[in-house]
Amino acid sequence: KPIEKLSREAAQHEIAKLQDDLRQYGIAYYEQDAPIVEDYIYDALYARLVALETVFPQFINPDSPTQNVGGAMTKSGLEKVVHPAPMLSLGDVFSLEELDEWDSRTTKSLGFQSDYNLELKIDGLAVALTYVSGKLVQASTRGNGTIGEDVTANVKMIKAIPQVLNEPITIEVRGEIYMPKSSFSTLNKQRELDGLAPFANPRNAAAGSLRQLNAKIMKQRNLSAFVYYTAEPDILGSTTQSDALKRFSSLGLPTDTHNRVMTKMADINNYIAEYTVTRDNLAYGIDGVVVKVNQLDDQLDLGNTVKIPRWAIAYKFPPEEALTVVRAIEWTV
Ligand code: NAD
Repeated sequence: KPIEKLSREAAQHEIAKLQDDLRQYGIAYYEQDAPIVEDYIYDALYARLVALETVFPQFINPDSPTQNVGGAMTKSGLEKVVHPAPMLSLGDVFSLEELDEWDSRTTKSLGFQSDYNLELKIDGLAVALTYVSGKLVQASTRGNGTIGEDVTANVKMIKAIPQVLNEPITIEVRGEIYMPKSSFSTLNKQRELDGLAPFANPRNAAAGSLRQLNAKIMKQRNLSAFVYYTAEPDILGSTTQSDALKRFSSLGLPTDTHNRVMTKMADINNYIAEYTVTRDNLAYGIDGVVVKVNQLDDQLDLGNTVKIPRWAIAYKFPPEEALTVVRAIEWTV
């Protein structure tokens, strides 16, 4: 039903139901690494909740999924880690029109048109890596954004993540741990042979692997990683996101090299169109494109909400099912 036609009571009822349902889906996804609904359904329900809470802000409560990053951590056996700065989520858009609106809002807030660094949105889970004097001392998951889980032993099994940097610096960097498509299909074939339930997708397989307690099992899972963020860019001498990525690489950290700096929406749309089609050819899953204000000073000026940075947005690809239909139509015309 259109939101403007809802009575106050009907809106309150729908908001409470959506908050409750999304919390349940979040527990299955974030804590049990076993989603019970498809991502695009979660995303559609979440977008409806955001729209309702925007019109009826009196029904937003602090427990709402719109006000919280990830989920609580109920898994036993993993130590808790307090993040020095919160690990946030990303706002998302599902159409080029919405992306255009985000660009207009950002331009208005800054007072000028920004350059953007475009990155692929890696379909894995966020991790924070702490290096002291160049040595990896701790790795933790995002958790609820404030407190994560210590996964140091498992992360040390990931070959792409260096245990020693090329420079003896002390820095916390953040990125995405993912399961390459080849590792995922090998793992699920083996699970079938062993009579075990296959993982739903590489993201859940990566999360399930990282959050289990046996480092030997972790080694066999062949996970990989890309680093894309630090809250301490001064340590690198970087003033832009694109330069920070280069510095990560010079330190020996894995980075995805598909990023591009762009300003015009027409170029950004072309980049998105290109990866909407060629994503199948990549060795790892991506679920969208992240558009980030490139100047780090401008990122600081824009700041964050409780849940997301205002200086970045994720454009999410349409679900594969919908894409298959679009491709089928394209083939037949
Ligand atoms: P998100 O995964 O949509 O986006 C934020 C995350 O993107 C960041 O935390 C980071 O880990 C990741 N990321 C990947 N590449 C990045 C890059 N280049 N730069 C910056 N960040 C990058 O947000 P979320 O809060 O982690 O999860 C919400 C999403 O998870 C939903 O949109 C939905 O698709 C899915 N989800 C699904 C269910 C379900 O039941 N199916 C439940 C909960 C969440």
